[in-house]
Amino acid sequence: MSDKPFFRFHPDAYDHGVFDESDEVCSACSRPCVWKYNQHIYALPPEPKAICARCISDGSVAKVVPDGDYGLHDFELGGETSEALAIEVEQRTPGFSTFNPFLWPVRNGVPLAFLGFGADDPFKGDDAVKSAIAKLAEEMDGEIAPDYAMIFKTLDGDEYVATLDLD
Ligand SMILES: [Zn+2]
Repeated sequence: MSDKPFFRFHPDAYDHGVFDESDEVCSACSRPCVWKYNQHIYALPPEPKAICARCISDGSVAKVVPDGDYGLHDFELGGETSEALAIEVEQRTPGFSTFNPFLWPVRNGVPLAFLGFGADDPFKGDDAVKSAIAKLAEEMDGEIAPDYAMIFKTLDGDEYVATLDLD
């Protein structure tokens, strides 16, 4: 496996800074991390010292947490999906910092990909993102500051969905 695996439900994970370049030895595969995960792992203590991107991608984190039970997000899936996709999102997709538990959107049984927060540079002037945030504001019956809007997109379509990270 590549030292820098691609995560389809968090495609810009490396740009989002959730991995650091590091030679530290990964607790799960005992090889230099290359890309060391720097976000929280939700599991019973003790927290593994270092986890590499490869072991996030293939789920090897399970080997070094109590009962093999862990998650990478403080979230709930916003709809029905298969067990395999639910596990891919929860355990094999790198997380990102949020203030609160959030809803991960699902459409037609498939979770969406997390693209970033509404205020991120790549979204400047993006009308599809703007209208997803506007739709969310309408649902919430209020104004939404773009920095609190989490932007998701369908894997093979171009439907954008915004969800809210309240502080
Ligand atoms: Zn590893």
